[in-house]
Amino acid sequence: MVSNRPFKVALYTFGCKVNFFESEQLKKSLQNIKIVDFSQEADFYIINGCTVTSASDSQARNIIRRFAKKGKVIVTGCYARKKDGLLEDIKGVEFISEMEDVAKKLERELVYDLFFDRSRPFLKIQSGCDQFCSYCIIPYVRGPLKSVPIDKIIELLEKIRSENFKEVVLTGIHIGKYGFDLDDGSVLSDVIEQAFKIVGRVRLGSLESGEITDEILMQTSQNKILPHWHVPLQHGSDTVLKRMKRPYTATQYRRSIEKIVDKTPAHVGLGTDVIAGFPGETDGEFLKSYDFIKSLPFTYGHVFPFSPREGTLAWEMEKTDGIKPEVKKERASLLRELFAKKHNEFKDSIKGIKLTAIIENKIDENLYSATTENYLSIQVKGNYSPKELIEVI
Ligand code: SF4
Repeated sequence: MVSNRPFKVALYTFGCKVNFFESEQLKKSLQNIKIVDFSQEADFYIINGCTVTSASDSQARNIIRRFAKKGKVIVTGCYARKKDGLLEDIKGVEFISEMEDVAKKLERELVYDLFFDRSRPFLKIQSGCDQFCSYCIIPYVRGPLKSVPIDKIIELLEKIRSENFKEVVLTGIHIGKYGFDLDDGSVLSDVIEQAFKIVGRVRLGSLESGEITDEILMQTSQNKILPHWHVPLQHGSDTVLKRMKRPYTATQYRRSIEKIVDKTPAHVGLGTDVIAGFPGETDGEFLKSYDFIKSLPFTYGHVFPFSPREGTLAWEMEKTDGIKPEVKKERASLLRELFAKKHNEFKDSIKGIKLTAIIENKIDENLYSATTENYLSIQVKGNYSPKELIEVI
């Protein structure tokens, strides 16, 4: 089940023709948002008010006070520009002068997804990416960074807690850049802090190596983040990384991994993504990547044979420097074997160790699937309920 219900906005306009025109423009730009009448329940009440006379001022204040009792209010238009100081302290009322900033704020509110259809809800805290790696279509289809405002995230985390979930997974397209598009200074470590405070058990989705900050490492060492990291590598050769337009070298990536291992209290689950057969990948570059991966303590990995996406730089590279399909296939299967070996070694290394896990699904009578803190999928015998937090050996 997805908890998203239609996002509703009520728009109240008074004053001159310009206000009405701007409100109409706003309605048109909010394609995924349902506009409802002011008498109905809404996620936001937007007041586009006038301040020409003192009578219109007081009319605006009455309306704002009335709707602040019902929910969140955004005041825009002339009244927001004027800032008379009379209403700024009302809880839940925000003043945004420009209509296009109101539209941006509402779009951000819509970015989130919250999936309650599993025992570990996934909370999407941002969307979009501005990195333009040469093989990736995402920045073209998802657009620039859009972060869910932190107050919205707190509201969603509280919902997760109230539904009795014991873990939350923070996801997004590029979560390391959470908050870069907001002007309140929030960053990923602030979201982690809130998630830890409210839900208590926090797992991070994929995080770029260069975006693992000292604050995040500190939170790891304080057990505020589960010992599971997914840090996309894509390739272990600097020349290929450069062609991929990835913003790091293999040495810099290694340093980030060393810091993670150093700061994570124990039994860290460490995953990555790699691409096999990127345009122009020579035997030497492939071997370099293979040896690099072998030398790091990955516990699992996802291998993707390179597949060009139209519109990207690598689409053009593939035309002239594409690797033969059978070579791509062979390289991908060598990497998959390597990751499988590492995964088995990891499982052997933690035999007999006590771990926590969340019960996921019932497989059979007295048999359940579960996911451990360090991201092992396991089966446990007993009588449990989904969402339950248990200890396993
Ligand atoms: S691979 Fe990741 S970081 Fe690179 S452009 Fe795609 S989404 Fe952005």
